[in-house]
This record gives sequence, C-alpha cells and structure tokens, in this order.
Amino acid sequence: MYTAKHASLYKHHVPDGRAYVFYIDIRSGGKGYEEFVQRTMEEDGAIYLRGRVSKLYRHNDKIKVLGTDTLTGQNVEIDADMVVLALAMQPSKGTAEIAKVLKIGRDKDGFLAEAHPKLKPVESVTAGIFLAGAAQAPKDIPETVAQAGAAAAKVIALLSQASLSHAPTVARVRRSHCTGCEMCVTACPYHAIRLENGKAVVNEVLCEGCGSCTATCLRAAIEVKNATQMQVFEMIEACLA
Ligand code: SF4
Ligand code: SF4
Repeated sequence: MYTAKHASLYKHHVPDGRAYVFYIDIRSGGKGYEEFVQRTMEEDGAIYLRGRVSKLYRHNDKIKVLGTDTLTGQNVEIDADMVVLALAMQPSKGTAEIAKVLKIGRDKDGFLAEAHPKLKPVESVTAGIFLAGAAQAPKDIPETVAQAGAAAAKVIALLSQASLSHAPTVARVRRSHCTGCEMCVTACPYHAIRLENGKAVVNEVLCEGCGSCTATCLRAAIEVKNATQMQVFEMIEACLA
C-alpha cells in the first residue's frame, strides 16, 4: 500500500515523471485502499508490472532495470533515475528492549503482542499497559488513531475506578512443599515471586496468573488459584465428554 503512496507522491512532485511498480501481490487491505491503488494507476499514471526485476545496473547516468511482465510475457527494460526497494515493515530497534522492560510479549514478527486479537486488541498481557499504533503491527494513520482512542478510553476507565480489582487467577505457594530452590523466581516473567525465609512468596499484585511458575516447580509447590492442574484436567475432560 505504501508503494502506491510513494508512486502517487512522486507523480505530484515530478509531474512529467512516470513510476513503475514491480509486484507479485498487491497488499491493499483497508477501507478505500483498493480504490487508492486504482487511482494511482489511472490518474497518476503509475505502471504496475506483475513480475520480478531480474537485473539492475548503472548505465550512463541512469539505472537500467530489466524484468518481465508475467501477465503479458513481455520483457521490460526501464531507464530509471531512482530505484526504490519496497521493504516489509519491521518493528523498530527498541521494541525488544521495551517489551522486556514492560514485560509485554511479542508476536512471531517481533511486534508487541496484544492480550487477545479479538477480545483484548488494545491491552497487553501486562495489566495497565496498552498498545496503539505501529508498535503492535504495521498500520496506517486512521487505524492508529482509532486504536489510540480505544487505548485512551481503556486508561480513563481504569483510572476512574474508586478501587482496582485483580483477576482471581494468581499463584499461591504450598509452603510445606516448597524447598526454596528458586526455580519459580527465575521463571516468573513478572518478577512476582521472591524468597522469604527459604520459601517462595508471591506478590499477588504483580502476578498475572501466567502459570510459568507452576510449570517449572518440580515439587508441585506452587499453583495458580482457580486454574489448578485438577481444574484444567476437569475442563479438558468436560470438553471431551
Ligand atoms: S520452584 Fe517450587 S520448590 Fe522451588 S522455590 Fe518455587 S515453589 Fe518452592
Ligand atoms: S503465575 Fe507464577 S510465573 Fe506467572 S506471574 Fe504469577 S507468580 Fe509469576
């Protein structure tokens, strides 16, 4: 989509120039985007060629671009003033660090991950941290503004409460089973567990109920309240029944 914007802007700045776009798939999902790409072709004269560039080289004061239009089967040769590579968008360099500091998950592409794509699209997995804009995924200005508005509304709703409630799924320690090995302390991504007098202690305010500690403890000395292993097994059995 941003390639169409580049082509359109180029035409507005260089009225006697012509933009050529080599593409395999045109990704223009969004309201009015398809029409924008069509306008770029029809009104701004951008020529879209389905195919790959096979060769680039400097030729006198131009850049020679060789390729094939796979729809017509014709070889294409262009003398270009400038060649722009349309790269995929990547998370900014600081994303990994900020995710680590705020204890927010990241998706497979490295963008900050929402708690749930449909039910919690602006919340992160860390309570009180909300997401908006291209930190979460590639998106344009209208989408970013809409998401930022939703995130701001969530913040206002949070701060306007007289008291804050916490989900009841927090970890608890069976002190008699705990050997103080500290494996859960290391495993907890929210730093919600500390050792006191040789036993693990959970800070329920920090605990997000992720269950990493229960999966780590070899003594079964820590479990998540309201989501114990027995409850999970019973839910699975109920689903399979
Ligand atoms: S991993 Fe289990 S045994 Fe070790 S400190 Fe944590 S709760 Fe205790
Ligand atoms: S469930 Fe365990 S690992 Fe997860 S946040 Fe709570 S204490 Fe930490």
